[in-house]
Parts: sequence; structure tokens; C-alpha cells
Amino acid sequence: MSGAALRPLSRIHGQVESVGELVRLLREGGRMPHALLFHGPSGVGKATAARALAAALYCRARVPASPDPCGQCPPCRRMAAGSHPDFVLAEVEEGKTQVSIEQIREITRFIALTALEEGVDEAGAVAGGWKMAVVDDASRMNDASANALLKTLEEPPPRSLLILITNRPGRLLPTIRSRCRSFRFAPLSDAALRRVLNEEMGGLNESALVQALELAEGSAAQGLAICGGDAMNWLGEFRRLVDGLPRGTLAVLCEGAALWSEKERYVAAALFLQGWLRKQSKTAVAQGGDAAGWLALTAEAAALLEKSAVFNLNRALTLETLFIRIARFQGAGF
Ligand SMILES: [Zn+2]
Repeated sequence: MSGAALRPLSRIHGQVESVGELVRLLREGGRMPHALLFHGPSGVGKATAARALAAALYCRARVPASPDPCGQCPPCRRMAAGSHPDFVLAEVEEGKTQVSIEQIREITRFIALTALEEGVDEAGAVAGGWKMAVVDDASRMNDASANALLKTLEEPPPRSLLILITNRPGRLLPTIRSRCRSFRFAPLSDAALRRVLNEEMGGLNESALVQALELAEGSAAQGLAICGGDAMNWLGEFRRLVDGLPRGTLAVLCEGAALWSEKERYVAAALFLQGWLRKQSKTAVAQGGDAAGWLALTAEAAALLEKSAVFNLNRALTLETLFIRIARFQGAGF
């Protein structure tokens, strides 16, 4: 959820275990490990928690018993504005598929420097003084980048904190994983997701909320994408298109794929399509249909849509491929 607003740890819902552990670390103050690994599905609060932890470490007026920054002091204001001089985030750049070695070199140099901001908080303890870097998504480092990072993990500079974020921890080098304290972020429960959506969007009607919960699969980022913008208005239109695929023509199918390849529509289409496939799978299981076939198609769609996001594949072509697979699976003659 990079780019989301700054939320304090106490308002990151549904991650009792991992956030609880971060709060304990904050209370222990100076005993913070040098490297943390936040792993779990996309959009469940990993990047939000990383920024919340930074804000808590930098705040000069935090009540020691609370994990929440004051929100008012200069470091808090700089964190909220994304301009704190001791905090840096490396993520895959627009149009790229990997976190580059240059980005990793930059952050390893950065966290080896002495922090620019060091203050004394109201209780007289030293606040700030940490150099922090976040890598999101760490599993998208190539071997050279990972090895460059490994050197820093082996000999971490004092008062440095590195947070690696990933939804695919299995793709990280074991030597990297083993040097990080691991925090698992789970998919959000319906209750936690409801809370996030209500707090972020406000005024959502019950039927919109239910639809969002069904489609978001425990991801706050997906829930927000569905409830924000025009996505909810597009749902009926998309379902009519997909329901009609086996009876339509190839021309109609390609026209539909082109329409839904526009950037904002495509994000919605990817969520709608996966939700629709899960529903078909459930129905097939309940009614004795070709459940294995639908489940395989659901997995295939998830893999292709993920690949399309990672490698910036042609969006219209990706949808065309999936629409054709779905139509043929249901007996279309093309
Ligand atoms: Zn503050």
C-alpha cells in the first residue's frame, strides 16, 4: 500500500500479531533489530506499518507508552509530507520490473550515514537518530541487488533499520531472510476490512461494502480500489460482458478487452475477473460442475494478471487471452 496516508500503528487494523510485536519493539527502544521482513499478501498494511514505525521512532513528543507519533512535531510533519531526511523508500520504478542495483547501492550508502535529525523527547530520551530504508517489493531485486544488500545485512551500521517488504518471501535469498526479524501480515478479516473502508471512504452503503468485501479478498488496497473512483459503477457492465463471452463473437470479445485495458478500468477488471472466477468455482463445487476446471482457470488468471502487472504486459492482450480461455472453456466455437 505504498503511497497511502500515514496511519499510526494503533490504527492498522487486523494485524494484531505483527503490529503487536512492533509495538513491543518500540517500547524496548534501543533494542530494535537492524533488519525486519514484512511479508504477506499485497495491500494488507505492510508499507503502512513500515511508515508508522518510522514515524513513531522519529517523533519527538510521543508518549512512551503509546506507539503513536504526536502528528504535530517537525519530524512528524516531515514524515507525513514524505520528506523526512532520515527515511528512504526504494520501490520498483514506473515502467521497470526490478529494484535496481543503483537503488540498493543508494539506500545502503544512505543508512550508513549519521542521522540528520536527532532530538530529545519530552521524557528526556533521545528520539530519532535512526537511518531507515524500506525496500518494496524486496523479492523483485535481482541477484546483484540482493548481494549488494546482503553486505549491509551482514554488517549493519549502528542505529540503522532496514525493512524489506514482500508478498513472495520464498523468492528472497535464504541468507537475506535469515538475517531479518520476520513479521507475517495476514489477509484482513471482513470486520477489519470493513473498518478500514469505513474510515478511509466513509458513507459507503451496505451493498457496496458487501461487494467490496467479496472482491477484495482481505486486501485493504483492493477494497479501496473497488470503492474509490468509478469501479463500483463498472461492476454490472463488466459482469454482463464476462457472462456473455461464450455466446459472443471474437470481435465483441476483442472490443471488450480493448475497452477494459484503459489503466483505471484494467485495475478494476483484474479484481472483477478474479472475483467472478472464484464465484464460478464455488458454484461448480456446490452444484457438481467442472470444479477442477474452474479452479485451474482461476489460478491461471491470477498468475497471468500478476505477470501482467510485474512485467507491464500489454493489457488488452492479457484480457483477450483470458476472455478467450474463459469463452472456450464454456464451449465457445472460436
Ligand atoms: Zn511527533
